[in-house]
Amino acid sequence: MNKIYLDNAATTPLSEEVIDAMVNTMKMSFGNPSSTHSFGQEAKICIENVRREIADCLHVTPAEIIFTSCGTESNNMIIKSSVEHLGVERIISSPLEHKCVSECILDMKSRRGVEVNYIRPNEKGDIDLHKLEELLKASDKKTLVSLMHANNEIGNLLDIKKVAELCKANNALFHSDTVQTMAHMNLDFSDIQVDFASCSAHKFHGPKGIGFAFIRKATGLKGIITGGPQERSLRAGTENVAGIVGLGKAWELSLKNMVQYTQHMQEIKDYAVERLSAEISGIKFNGRSAEKENSLYTVLNALLPFKNPLIGLQLDMKGIAISQGSACSSGASKPSMVMMMVLSEDEMDNGTPLRISFSHMTTKEEIDALVLALKEISKDVAIEKTNLEHR
Ligand code: PLP
Repeated sequence: MNKIYLDNAATTPLSEEVIDAMVNTMKMSFGNPSSTHSFGQEAKICIENVRREIADCLHVTPAEIIFTSCGTESNNMIIKSSVEHLGVERIISSPLEHKCVSECILDMKSRRGVEVNYIRPNEKGDIDLHKLEELLKASDKKTLVSLMHANNEIGNLLDIKKVAELCKANNALFHSDTVQTMAHMNLDFSDIQVDFASCSAHKFHGPKGIGFAFIRKATGLKGIITGGPQERSLRAGTENVAGIVGLGKAWELSLKNMVQYTQHMQEIKDYAVERLSAEISGIKFNGRSAEKENSLYTVLNALLPFKNPLIGLQLDMKGIAISQGSACSSGASKPSMVMMMVLSEDEMDNGTPLRISFSHMTTKEEIDALVLALKEISKDVAIEKTNLEHR
């Protein structure tokens, strides 16, 4: 059976070039980057080359890029250190955030007594920026705003340039979880005045276990992992040199091919919307995911017009890997917080959400196979329902 992978928002397959670059680094540049001899310095150069390339693309200085183990660590570092070292007393966020942000905020609330204000999104998953401005003006407490750039379940994009302007005007710090958009969109942080952002290499065909935090120098943020002076003393621990090189190669490929990849994925997404709408009567699309504006081209979130909690398993048995939401909560039996925000009770009781996420390798034939599989499953559900009614 030819397997089909449509879960690219969870993770992406590694590019061959990334694997080659990593293997080469592991073989040839194994030195400890903190060592002063030539082996160490060679490894150090590998790291600094990647740091410079990323900084140039984001229009920031290399010192503002801090390598970490993943998006989760970057977000934790930024939020926890803002409270610990920058005196943040209040966090404004939304229920749409990834668990690594929302749980971290709750931790700061319970352990450090931080006040938390949530902006509830509308049924399309939009954050009301007037509400944000109102909240910003309502308190003199030192505030951190934490709002993600693109939602990992419904793909809604937030205007982070506008949010950054509101935060600056009201003396608040702004952190954006940019894990789903880094290397998928051109981000210019000399124009978008975010203070903090995060990146994870495995979302753009790089390896797992490596990411970075963008930390604007002027904020004076410190690290939370203490030890050696690595990463300008912001993140102690011997660096994952091969991982950083892999991140750098994946970044380079994504940036070089961005126009072509974006066009391809947008075309695939449009095709999926068209085919699913034509073949699955009653299907709906959640959030803004089926729209061209304000939606990330990698994610389409559908609501199937029947209840089927086993859909992921049934599709997997047909060779199609897909998820119903964030990989971090996919084992949970409850609908995700994001789904609770954008679906009505009736939709949750009688429908099945499905997150279809694309890469530059996804083909129209794979979408056709998904549509066929969903038609078969929906037919089985209808037969089952009729049998139950006649019992
Ligand atoms: N933030 C978002 C929006 C994500 O989608 C993810 C991963 O699913 C993360 C953070 C966590 O990244 P990592 O898997 O590198 O810890």
